[in-house]
Amino acid sequence: MKGLTFQRNGVVSVEDVPEPTILRPDDAIVRVSMAGICGSDLHVLHAGEAFGFAPGARLGHEFLGTVEAVGSDVVSAAVGDRVLVSVSVNCGECSWCREGLQASCERMSMFGWAPRLWQHGGDVQGGQSEYARVPLANSTLTRIPEAVADPGREGSLLPLIDVMSTAMHGLTAGRMQPGFHVVVIGDGAVGQSAVHCARALGAEAVICLGHHADRLEMAERLGASGVGEQRDPEEIREFVFGATGGQGAHVVVDTVSNTSSMQGAHAAVRPGGTIACLGMDHFMGKLPEINWYDQFVRNITISGGLVHSNRYVGPLLELLANDDIDPAPMLTNVLSLDDAAEGYRMMAERDPGVVKVALAVGATGG
Ligand SMILES: [Zn+2]
Ligand SMILES: [Zn+2]
Repeated sequence: MKGLTFQRNGVVSVEDVPEPTILRPDDAIVRVSMAGICGSDLHVLHAGEAFGFAPGARLGHEFLGTVEAVGSDVVSAAVGDRVLVSVSVNCGECSWCREGLQASCERMSMFGWAPRLWQHGGDVQGGQSEYARVPLANSTLTRIPEAVADPGREGSLLPLIDVMSTAMHGLTAGRMQPGFHVVVIGDGAVGQSAVHCARALGAEAVICLGHHADRLEMAERLGASGVGEQRDPEEIREFVFGATGGQGAHVVVDTVSNTSSMQGAHAAVRPGGTIACLGMDHFMGKLPEINWYDQFVRNITISGGLVHSNRYVGPLLELLANDDIDPAPMLTNVLSLDDAAEGYRMMAERDPGVVKVALAVGATGG
């Protein structure tokens, strides 16, 4: 079968790779129909060797498809079911999973990530492939409900797995409530998702700060009440407080989380507000400087973190079924799996108009 593989820093390619098989009784094999390229995959593209990626390792942690085979212990999904696969493998049974902290699951593995995170008796390869092995399938798979199962809606479903869940995680960590003012820093797919989710959760003002006119227009279509391209913290403060009746943001979702974006976040947030950090520069060893003085004096909560798989997908599926959300517009480009390397290039070089690239992997089954 075909799969998108890491070759060396800066180079990924689609290659013939071994088809996965059931290794444990709670495994499932999923025939992938659509997979996403995530911003965090670009970190692997640029610096996979530092993370322990060997040539041939398969990438991708956002994918959906049809169950092709199940082990004898799998009860929550059957062959032929259409399913969303969580970004990370999780058991659903340990104390962390039971508290909704699946990112800290004792048996957690990341799909399409470095082998040091694999602990399920063999490969946990990425889903930018024709087939993928899904360990702990009883909790790692989510069946797609009938109401949204139309194969034509895969573009609405795919973003739920990661970027929309991550956005919900940021808003949840930000203690989001209806009527709140929300500022989203960053106009990439997670930023677009945070705008869209904040609107669905009943935010009053939803302000997106970014640096690309076309993406800011998309944010307006997805629910932003205001957008801005300010970089200077003073200008951000003036803009945000002016647009919120002098209140400032109850929640800032910072999808960048570097020193500069954090300065903007502090400028936008109101006293007692929360800054939820979702950016991943620290994966590349770049730690943001945080204004601990402002944090202390104005009682700012700094929050955020790695998304908990499964916790948000159910509520998001409900919002989708009720037509309260439709994240499909943020999938700006759908390529075939054969063109996956080009998709990485388009995202890495930020081609105009490109927000998120999805890969159509095979005929949608069922
Ligand atoms: Zn991701
Ligand atoms: Zn667990």
